[in-house]
Amino acid sequence: MSRSLLHAKQLSKAFAGVPAVHEISLGVERGQIVCLLGPSGCGKTTLLRLIAGLESPDSGSVWFAEQEITTLPPHKRDFGLMFQDFALFPHKNVGQNVVFGLQTKNTGAADARVSEMLALVGLAGFEPRDVSSLSGGERQRVALARSLAPNPRLLMLDEPLGALDRALRERLMLEIRQILKTVGLTAIYVTHDQTEAFAVADRVVVMNQGRIEQDSRPEQLFKQPGSKVVASFLGFANLLAATVIEPGRVETRLGQWRLPAASAIQAGTAVTVLIRPEAASLNPAAGGLAVEARLMSTIFRGRFYQAVFVASSGVELTFEMTPGNLPQSERDVTLWLDPASILVLPG
Ligand code: ATP
Repeated sequence: MSRSLLHAKQLSKAFAGVPAVHEISLGVERGQIVCLLGPSGCGKTTLLRLIAGLESPDSGSVWFAEQEITTLPPHKRDFGLMFQDFALFPHKNVGQNVVFGLQTKNTGAADARVSEMLALVGLAGFEPRDVSSLSGGERQRVALARSLAPNPRLLMLDEPLGALDRALRERLMLEIRQILKTVGLTAIYVTHDQTEAFAVADRVVVMNQGRIEQDSRPEQLFKQPGSKVVASFLGFANLLAATVIEPGRVETRLGQWRLPAASAIQAGTAVTVLIRPEAASLNPAAGGLAVEARLMSTIFRGRFYQAVFVASSGVELTFEMTPGNLPQSERDVTLWLDPASILVLPG
């Protein structure tokens, strides 16, 4: 038996014969924030709803604190939920909204808990405020306070910041993490936004077509995406089909390369080569793998330019380059690629 606080075992759920979640096993440790990340329709919400008891699995089981809860009704699980469209009651004030989930009849204790939760989310003294007078960010904080008030054993958040603009999301994602860590809450957080997942999570579970593709710490996921699907989802553009000719040597449409990342892979294996966006230099002194290419376009991205090249073999490559490392206009160049910034992924 795993020592995880929450343990989903071999969960499957299909709708009209189409699998939404397929044999997923997932453990969540006490106090951990796990993000489910993946494209729309990959099964994140279904997995969350199975864990919450809002859907029943076709097969598999859910365990919490070493007790099976697969058939336990949702309200008996003591789990908190916060959704993007988790509407506040418009005719109740902030305090009445937060107190809603509390079972206690002791109004003094309830009021104290509400004040404590509002202070925690940075809204101390907001009890009498009309919900309609709040900004979008304040509403989400009230929703968070309401989810936290009953002291759930597990908090589940499904795209909680989905409706907010980018700047507000950036701020709130950090605040949510800090609040969850302050309370020491165990949480599952669903998002399709990798920036949000990286900022909030201790662990990121990438899903695709109802299955788990990768389960890693955020830094590790970014450093070493485990598959082509994960790399594409994280926004890596330079993915080339390749074959290992001998351990440590691969053939791509850009030529034959000696790559440390392929040193343990057998000859004849089909792989995908990922050239990281920071891998290229125009300075011959940088050394590495030379690729003849033509600069096609540049886009200013703030701290760097995103430059698109087409190699003489027709392969399109996109790199992030500093202004000093970029030609002024469209022209033929030699790109120097750092082999240490090239990954070799299966398949
Ligand atoms: P999104 O980010 O768009 O919410 P998701 O990753 O959360 O997507 P799910 O909502 O879990 O994905 O959906 C997974 C698949 O199951 C989708 O193809 C969806 O259409 C289907 N599905 C989910 N719920 C139902 C339902 N109640 N009835 C029929 N099909 C459903």
